Amino acid sequence: MLEDQSPELTPISKLGEFGLIKHLTDKFSFKNSSTEISIGDDAAVINPEGKKVVISTDTLAEGVHFNLGYVPLKHLGYKSVVVNLSDIAAMNAVPTQLLVSLAVSNRFPVEALEEIYYGISLACEKYKVDLIGGDTTSSQTGLVLTITAIGLENSENIVQRNGAKPNDLLVVTGDLGGAYTGLQILEREHSVFLADPNMQPEMEGYDYILERQLKPEARTDIKQILEDLKIKPTSMIDVSDGLASEVLHLSEQSKVGFHVYENKLPLDPLTISTADELNLNPTMCALNGGEDYELLFTISPTDFEKIKNNPDFTIIGHAVDLEQGNFLIASGSNELVKITAQGWKAF
Ligand code: ADP
Ligand code: MG
Repeated sequence: MLEDQSPELTPISKLGEFGLIKHLTDKFSFKNSSTEISIGDDAAVINPEGKKVVISTDTLAEGVHFNLGYVPLKHLGYKSVVVNLSDIAAMNAVPTQLLVSLAVSNRFPVEALEEIYYGISLACEKYKVDLIGGDTTSSQTGLVLTITAIGLENSENIVQRNGAKPNDLLVVTGDLGGAYTGLQILEREHSVFLADPNMQPEMEGYDYILERQLKPEARTDIKQILEDLKIKPTSMIDVSDGLASEVLHLSEQSKVGFHVYENKLPLDPLTISTADELNLNPTMCALNGGEDYELLFTISPTDFEKIKNNPDFTIIGHAVDLEQGNFLIASGSNELVKITAQGWKAF
């Protein structure tokens, strides 16, 4: 569809830059009283209402972070918002505003951008964030989408990566490795399709992991759950590059080591069966796969009782002295395997 534009599709040049921005953004409404001035002026104005302002930005580039051969544009818009909200959630802050910068080549018709903004608007609705600005420019190569997310939070609630102490419990939300196994299925079916466009992709039965890859969610719900349990994590990070990489970040910043128990890793049955089918080790999918967008955090051992039977959380290990290093304790053998970061690398 994108390569040869059919006559029903609208070239960007027909609307022009300003017409395009208006067309894409005028259906967005506002949900946060902290949003004072939004799209249409030279800059947006937010009122932090006495809170700290938490800011994060992420860029997704075609061919590097996504492949339009199998990623629908609507999902791309949605996911690009989610990955940013996940960073705000990892600071234990509430996301409130977004800015979206778009670099597009003229091979994209207006309708393609509408799809992306439709995905963005679905995420804005779900997570109650306001689109307050952005930038639009042309690109000679592929599509590049940069999103900046803003969150507001009382300063005493903000959680950094650096507060873990030896004996703290290491906890993760949800399950791990699903997004990576989902990606492997998408790539397998895409190469089958490229080899023979008459072949129908076989995606049936993989719904959960495909959704984990194509439509991940940010765990903005965890903040309230922890507040209700009267738990403030001592350190926190989101799982974007894989558990191994995130454990090492907490270790480095908190100056502790971690022991992680392989038999405690939360894996969905479909992640395990798909990994087996693809001759992948499910533990490796969790450690090095990435894009799960769950939260990984540490809590004081005195909070154990509050969390131990909670289905939202899995205790996967604990912090030790830095000198003891970062190790996975293998199921069965109890062998100590050094944790190294092979996380996803863009370069
Ligand atoms: P300037 O030329 O001053 O940078 P722009 O023409 O880039 O202004 O933007 C005009 C308004 O539209 C600004 O409020 C800007 O934040 C907003 N905007 C521009 N591009 C986008 C976009 N892709 N998505 C959302 N808002 C945008
Ligand atoms: Mg601009």
